[in-house]
Amino acid sequence: MLTIYNTLTRKKEVFEPLVPGHVGMYVCGPTVYGDPHLGHARSAITFDLLYRYLLASSYKVRYVRNITDVGHLENDADEGEDKIAKLARLQALEPMEVAHHYTVRYHRFMDMLGVLTPSIEPTASGHIIEQIEMVGRILEAGYAYEANGSVYFDVEKYARDFDYGALSGRFLEDMQSGSRSLDGQGDKRSPFDFALWKRASPEHIMRWPSPWSEGFPGWHMECSAMSVKYLGERFDIHGGGMDLVFPHHEAEIAQGTACGNVGARYWMHNNMVTVGGQKMGKSLGNAITLEQFFTGAHPLLERAYSPMTIRFFMLQAHYRSTLDFSNEALQAAEKGLDRLMRAVETLDKIEPIEDNTDLTEDIDPNQRTPVFITKDLYSRLQWHMDNDLNSPQVIAMLFAIVSEINNIHDGSRNIYAEDLAELKHIFNRWVFDILGLRDEKAAGESNSLAPVMELVLELRKDAKENKNWALSDKIRDGLAAAGIKVMDKKDGTSEWQQQ
Ligand code: ZN
Repeated sequence: MLTIYNTLTRKKEVFEPLVPGHVGMYVCGPTVYGDPHLGHARSAITFDLLYRYLLASSYKVRYVRNITDVGHLENDADEGEDKIAKLARLQALEPMEVAHHYTVRYHRFMDMLGVLTPSIEPTASGHIIEQIEMVGRILEAGYAYEANGSVYFDVEKYARDFDYGALSGRFLEDMQSGSRSLDGQGDKRSPFDFALWKRASPEHIMRWPSPWSEGFPGWHMECSAMSVKYLGERFDIHGGGMDLVFPHHEAEIAQGTACGNVGARYWMHNNMVTVGGQKMGKSLGNAITLEQFFTGAHPLLERAYSPMTIRFFMLQAHYRSTLDFSNEALQAAEKGLDRLMRAVETLDKIEPIEDNTDLTEDIDPNQRTPVFITKDLYSRLQWHMDNDLNSPQVIAMLFAIVSEINNIHDGSRNIYAEDLAELKHIFNRWVFDILGLRDEKAAGESNSLAPVMELVLELRKDAKENKNWALSDKIRDGLAAAGIKVMDKKDGTSEWQQQ
């Protein structure tokens, strides 16, 4: 039975879907104004693991992961301009051009990491009507107020009727002491309040008409409106990074509750990626993008690392533990991954003992394959996974299986054909289908690198077109260090070769 740690109750709970056999799951997706970094990959891979495991457990899953293409305001202040709009103005682009550009790139990076496409990927800009409608309902219920064309959620009023802070464990009194004064907070009655709708200033380019003003929705609105639209007023799982617990998810719960929605039953949060113990984040300036990992073009990187190395590195840690980035850890992950992949090949070369032989008695008991391999292997792996997605334990067990595969292959153990077939089936199912790994070095070696290289060379071409020679050289040198030679041709295109 699958148990998952529920942030809302602060304990592991048996997972029971509302409708037997079906799971509704909502995960907060990317804000598309920049390239994804390692922290984004962790959230995507964590919930991809859950999604794959639910599918492997025969659930029908509707997995909704949104794209924030509007409304994510800078910092946690409700003032200031939209991140996407700001970047668009700096680059003299249409905001939607920026959003589209980074959405396409996000998808490419996720494909490389083996992250499955969710069932629905709704955009905030495509659901303005639903958000306006929900803001109206919150106003009607009396938990919001209009001020100067903007609408704010009335946290103090809500907290008198409901448990504000239930998810994050924060109390209003604590928030009071920690929050800033009302200076610079504009039309808000209290510093706790957050925007549901913001009137657009004249220079703000992303704007929509509403009953209150021409403006745009507050960041927390989109997830409340879109989860209800696609999963219903109550649904099973809501996920995201731990940094979203407060204020984003707390606000989501408050907005939903104010409208009479029950919301998600299980709240799951993956922990952060750290660099030398410090959180990795774009705003902190220590974020390494996935592109930089794949090309090796970052001062903290000794060389390039493949997408599957990144995925395996993440799966080797439990999703609720922090994960500290280091070159040593990545190189260890690379070796571990290779060991698993070579075992997949070894399995194909093993000669089993014929079935229906009477050899049982003649085989030295020490040479028999241990029962943990031949009996209940799947359920043993499942046991670890059911324990709040304990992927590090699953991987530890796969490594124990690898040792036995090697023993069988070198003849120190025997295995019956039937057991071998079962072992192959289970091993491949866990390595490829559930952990979502793929063999980048197998026969189609260059094929699996091809999509990565296609992107990398395209980026290098962009760098050259922008006369960013330093970056273009850095990419070439980074690839060379990873054993990939780039040859520039006269027509401006490049070819590559693995050495
Ligand atoms: Zn969200």
